[in-house]
Amino acid sequence: MKPTLKSRKLANVCYDIRGPVLDKARQMEEEGHKIIKLNIGNIAAFGIEPPDEIVQDMIRNLPAAAGYTDSKGLFAPRKAVVHYCQEKKIAGVTIDDVYLGNGASELIVMALNALLDTGDEVLLPAPDYPLYTAAVALSGGTPVHYVCDEQSDWMPDIEDIKRKITPNTRAIVVINPNNPTGALYPDSVLQQIVEVARQHQLIIMADEIYDKTLFDGNTHTSIAALADDVLCLTFNGLSKNYRACGYRAGWMVVSGEKRHAQDYITGLNMLASMRLCANTPGQLAIQTALGGYQSINDLVAPSGRLCRQRDLAYDLLTQIPGVSVVKPKAALYMFPRLDPKIYPIEDDRQFAYELLAEEKVLIVQGTGFNWTAPDHFRLVFLPNSDDLRDAVGRIERFLTHYRKR
Ligand code: PLP
Repeated sequence: MKPTLKSRKLANVCYDIRGPVLDKARQMEEEGHKIIKLNIGNIAAFGIEPPDEIVQDMIRNLPAAAGYTDSKGLFAPRKAVVHYCQEKKIAGVTIDDVYLGNGASELIVMALNALLDTGDEVLLPAPDYPLYTAAVALSGGTPVHYVCDEQSDWMPDIEDIKRKITPNTRAIVVINPNNPTGALYPDSVLQQIVEVARQHQLIIMADEIYDKTLFDGNTHTSIAALADDVLCLTFNGLSKNYRACGYRAGWMVVSGEKRHAQDYITGLNMLASMRLCANTPGQLAIQTALGGYQSINDLVAPSGRLCRQRDLAYDLLTQIPGVSVVKPKAALYMFPRLDPKIYPIEDDRQFAYELLAEEKVLIVQGTGFNWTAPDHFRLVFLPNSDDLRDAVGRIERFLTHYRKR
C-alpha cells in the first residue's frame, strides 16, 4: 500500500493564494479577530457589486435553468462571445470555437490537461497567476517561467522567453492585463510574443480576464487579434470586469491556425463533455453582461472607486522607506518590492504570517506567484479608502518594526 493517500501528481502543485496563511487567518477570525483581507480579488465581497441587470437576470432565469446544457454551452451566450471577439478583432471565430465554463479556471485546467504529456513544457510568466503553474504540473507538464521585468513596467522579457524554448515547449501563457503586477502590454510586446510563438509553433494561451479593468484611458488588445496564423486560446469571464466571480461564468475561445489542432480540439470537446456543462444560470448571465451597460467604465474612470483606491494604495505604499511599486495600469493588484537591504526577508511566507499575526492584515507573499526572490508581496486595492488607509498604515507599522529588528 502507498504510505500516503495523496496522489503523487500533487507533489509539485501549489496554490498559495488560498494556502496556509489563509488557514491561519480563518483560525484567527474564529478566535474573534477582525482581519483586513488584501489577499484575493473577490470584488463583490468589498461592496463593489455586479451590474444589477446581471443579478436580476440570474434571479429571473433561475427557475428555468435547472437543466444541463450542451457541453460547450448555450447558443445565445456563446453567440454573445462571438460578437465580443468581433469587437476585439479576433478573426474567424464561430460558435463552435467558444466553450463556456464554471469560471475561466475550469477551462484553463481543461485546456492544459488536453494538451500536455509528461515532459511537455509550458512557458509561464514570473510572477504568474499561480493557477497556471499548478495546472501545468497537475497535467504532467513542466512549468518553465519567463521573467517579467520590473524595471520595464513588468513587461515580459522576450530574450528570456527565447532562451527558455526547447524542443519540448508546447505553449506560452500570456496574462494581460496581468495579475499580480497590474501590467498592460502594448501591441509591440504582444507582436514580439506572437512572432516567437509563430517561429516555434507554440500555442498562445491568453488570459484576458481583466481586459476591461483599465485605468488612465488605456485600451486593451487581444493577442489573438494579432495572431490569426497561430493557434490561440483566449480566456475571459464575468468574475472581474463584471464583479460576479461567485456566478462562475467564464469562456474560452479557440482561434487562429487550427489545421493541425483537430485532435486537440477533439480532446477539449471530450473533457468538456466529461464535466457535462457549465452551470446554466451563470451561462445565461453572459449575454446580458456583454450586451449591457458596461459599468466597469465608471469604476475605472479617474473619479471611480477602483481608480481612486489604486491611486491611494500607490501613494501610501511608495511613501514607506524601502518600498517601491510599479503603478498598475490595469486589473486589481499591485506587486510591491521590499528592498532586501532594508528588509532582509528570508522566507516571505513567514513574513506574511508575521504581518497577519501582528497587524491582522492578510496579503499574499510574492513567492506564491512563482517569483523566486522573497522580496515582493501582492496587495489587492479593493477595500474602500478608509480601510485601505488603515491596512497600509498597519503594513507600514509592521515594516517599521521589521527594519529595526
Ligand atoms: N485568471 C486570472 C489572471 C485571475 O486573476 C483569476 C482570478 O483571480 C482567474 C483567471 C480566475 O477566473 P474565474 O473566476 O473566471 O475562474
